[in-house]
Amino acid sequence: MIRDCEEGKIDLVITKSISRFSRNTLDCLTNIRKLKALGIPIIFEKESTNTMEASGELMITILASIAQQESASTSQNVKMGIRFGFQEGRGRLNYSVFLGYQKGTKGYEIVPGEAEVVRRIYRLYLEGFSPNIICQELMEENITTPAGGNTWYPSTVQSILENEKYCGDLLMQKYYVEDFLTHKSVRNTGALPQYFVEDDHAPIVPKAVYYQVQCERKRRSALMLDPGKLRFGRRIALNGRLICGKCGRILKRYVKPNEALTDWRCRQRAMVKKSNTKENASNRCDLRIVKETEIQKVVLTAFNRLPEMKPALIASQDHLRNAEIEKIDALLSALSTQQDQMESRMDQLTATIEKVAYAADGPEAETESETDESLKEVDSLKEQIISIQDQKNALCAQRAEHARHEIQLRILLELIDQMTGMSNEAENGDGACYDYEDFFRRTQYHVPSGVLQDGHMVLFENDLVIRYLDSVIVEDHGYVIRFKAGVEITVDEN
Ligand SMILES: [Zn+2]
Repeated sequence: MIRDCEEGKIDLVITKSISRFSRNTLDCLTNIRKLKALGIPIIFEKESTNTMEASGELMITILASIAQQESASTSQNVKMGIRFGFQEGRGRLNYSVFLGYQKGTKGYEIVPGEAEVVRRIYRLYLEGFSPNIICQELMEENITTPAGGNTWYPSTVQSILENEKYCGDLLMQKYYVEDFLTHKSVRNTGALPQYFVEDDHAPIVPKAVYYQVQCERKRRSALMLDPGKLRFGRRIALNGRLICGKCGRILKRYVKPNEALTDWRCRQRAMVKKSNTKENASNRCDLRIVKETEIQKVVLTAFNRLPEMKPALIASQDHLRNAEIEKIDALLSALSTQQDQMESRMDQLTATIEKVAYAADGPEAETESETDESLKEVDSLKEQIISIQDQKNALCAQRAEHARHEIQLRILLELIDQMTGMSNEAENGDGACYDYEDFFRRTQYHVPSGVLQDGHMVLFENDLVIRYLDSVIVEDHGYVIRFKAGVEITVDEN
C-alpha cells in the first residue's frame, strides 16, 4: 500500500483503527510521516482522527513519544550489554569486513596473508604514497578488499591507516547509536565514555610505526598535501618533479608522436610564448628544452652513484636516530613528568578548595584567604600546563619530521643493498610484529626484475621515482637530482 501511495495511486487512506494500521508504534509513526510528506491523509475511524488536521498532529506527537520509549528500552538493553562488555575489555567487531584479524577463542587473531597486506599499506604510506596510489597498487596485484571485493577505495585505505587495533590497542565505543528511530551511528567525541585498552591483542604493525603514520596523516592534512594528487598519479612519475634551475618553475611535458622525441620545457617559457608581447618576451625564461629520454638516463646515472654514498647515508641515519630523536624523547619525557607533578598538585588544591567550600560552618576568615591563595595557584598551574602541552606538541612535530627523514634514509639504504647484492632475503613472518626494525625488514621492497643488471640500474621505472626521488633541477649544463632521503647528486650533461 505504501508503494501505491508513493506512486501516486492513492489519495486518501481510511482505516478502522490505529492498531489495525500497523504492527507496532514505530512502524505506524514512520508510515504516517511518510504519507503525510506525500500529502496523503489517513483517517482513523475509531479514533476519529485525520492525520492532516490539528487533532492528527497531537496524535502523532503522542505516538512518537510512545515509540521512543518502546524503542529506547530495547535499544538501551542492547547497548548496556555492549557497554558492559566494553568495561571488561571485550570489544565488538565486525570481523567479516576487518582486514588482518579474525575472531579467535581469545579475541583478535591474526590472519597471516591479510596481515601482510595491512603492513604493505602502512609501509607504502610512510614511503610517501597517497591512499589513491596505494589503491592502484593493490588492485594491480589483485589483492582482495576487506569486504571481499576487487575495488579498493582511498577511504578503505584511510580507515586501515587510522585503526588503532592494528598496533594491538583497542579503543572501544568509537561510535554509538545516537538516534533510536533512525539507528544512525555517530562518532563518540565525549558524549559517552570511551575505553582504551593498551596491548589488548597481538599487533600487526608496531606502535612506533602506527604513531608515525598518525603524525604523517596530520602533517599531510595540515599541508593539504597529498603527494599522489600533487604529482598527477604514477603514470608519468616525473610530472611535478622537474624544476627549472633558472626561474624555479615546474617543467611541462610535450608529447610527440614519436615517443622518443617527447620533451620537457619550462612552464614560464611556454606561458610567455602564448602572450607574445615584446615586454614579456624579454622576461621569458630561456631554459633549454630537454628530451625525456635524456632525463631518464640522468636519473639512472644518479641512482647508480648511490652506493658510493652509503657510508654518508649510514652516518646521517645514526645521527638522526641516536642524537636528534633521542634528544627529543628525553625532553618529552622530562616535560611529561613535570606535567604529571603539576596535575597532581592541582588535584590536591582543588580537593582542599572544595572541602572548605562545602564545610558546614562556612569558611573562617583565615581559611578564606588560604582559599584565595590556592585558587591563584590553580590558575597559574593551568597556564603552565597549557604551555607544557604546547612545547610537547612542537617537539612531537619535530620528532615526526626526523623520523620521516630517517625512514627515507632507511629505504634508500635498503635499495643500495639490493643494488650491491647485500640485501638479505625478506623474512616475511606471518605473525605479530612488535618491533620497528622488524617491520621494515619484513616489508622490504623488491626492485622489479629487469631493472637491475650486475648491480646497475638499467631500466627507468616510474615507481622508483615515486619512492625515492624528490625532484630534479634542470640547469643549463647539468642536473641536480634530489632524493627524498636528503641526498643530492649532480650530473653534468654529457
Ligand atoms: Zn624557467
